[in-house]
Parts: sequence; C-alpha cells; structure tokens
Amino acid sequence: MDAQDSFDLTTGRGLMACPRCDALHVEEELDPGETATCIRCGGVLAKPRGGAFTQLIALSFTTVVLMMGAIFFPFLEISRMGFGNATSLFGVGMAFADGVLLPLVLAVMMMIVGLPVLRAFLLVYTLTPLAQGRAPYRHAARAFRWSELLRPWSMAEIFVIGTAVALVKVAGLATVHLGPAFWAFCALILVNLASRGFMCQTTIWDAIEDAGLHTDGREMVQGRVS
Ligand SMILES: [Zn+2]
Repeated sequence: MDAQDSFDLTTGRGLMACPRCDALHVEEELDPGETATCIRCGGVLAKPRGGAFTQLIALSFTTVVLMMGAIFFPFLEISRMGFGNATSLFGVGMAFADGVLLPLVLAVMMMIVGLPVLRAFLLVYTLTPLAQGRAPYRHAARAFRWSELLRPWSMAEIFVIGTAVALVKVAGLATVHLGPAFWAFCALILVNLASRGFMCQTTIWDAIEDAGLHTDGREMVQGRVS
C-alpha cells in the first residue's frame, strides 16, 4: 500500500471504493484486529486478522481431505425387511454415468465436488508464498480472482440441504442410516463458514499488490493517461 494521504484521483491509486455503495475512501494500512468500515453505509471494507493466511491454507487442505471422504465413504444406507444397500457419492455417479442423466451427474459432481476442491487449490496457490512472506507466484492475482468468481457456484451446502429434504421422504419407506460421507459434508459446511470468517479479500488483494503484481487494471489507466 502506498504512503498514507497519497492518492491520485486520475488513476485511483491509494483509493478504495466501498463494494456496496461506491463511496471512495483513502486507503490506510490496518493492523491485525482493526476493522475498516464504510463511512456512508457502514459496510466492512477490510478486516485483517493475524495469521489469517495460514489458517485459510489449513482450512483449504481440510476441505480437500473431507471431500475425499465425502466422495468415497458410504453416503447413506437404506434397509427394508432385512435387505439393505449402501452407496457412496462416487457409486451414485457411476450408476448414472451411461444414461441420459450423464450431463446432470457431471454438473452436480462439478458443483459439489469439483469447484470446492478447485477453489481450495487456487487459495493454497495464492496464499502459500504470502503466508511465508515471500513474493507470490506469477499467476496469483488470476488464481485469486478465479477463486472469488467460482465462490457462488460451489454448492456443497445446497446439496446437503437437498439431500436432507429428500431423506425425510425416503425415511417413510425404508430405514435410512446416514453414512460418514454425509457427516463429512456437514463438516465441510462448517469449514466453509470458518474460511469465510477468516477471509478478507481486501487484505489478500493488498498483499498481492504490495508484492508488485498487477491486480486492478491500474496499469491500463496509467498507460492511457501518460
Ligand atoms: Zn458503503
């Protein structure tokens, strides 16, 4: 971040807009624990925490491990009159893999498994050097931008709610036991919540920017003006 009170209205250097109401603020360096809020709407602009990068990396690895369990461990077991069957999410995917439902299976697997894992890898790629105080990798800005773009599309929570609703219906027909994979998904929701709590996009962008990577198109503005 630049020195305080140094900003440029032509290029936007040293200024920060509120993501909710667009009020412009002069950037200031925050200490861990401090919170910057918008003077107009009160929205949080930045809320750095000490060690947040390391915690986010740890939570990303947790996501990947839990996701492996969620795919391959039994998801639920149905039994009726002595006959039972247990299946994992992977088994369900394979069962529908050669029918007209294939595109649907691929889309579901992509959104509940692929995207959370991909986001975890993108975050680890972006944050590992920053947490160690080194220069970020070359594509860190692009990786973090993609991670933020994909956030609304990763739908593990929605899947768990949908499954819970469906299970209430099935429970009337047969005895249903929830397997470890179901609880792994529930744990994933908690990990995801914790990750959102630790995540401060402004701080991460700032760290990437401080390390000298271009992040915001400022270079294009400067190119046009000069
Ligand atoms: Zn605002």
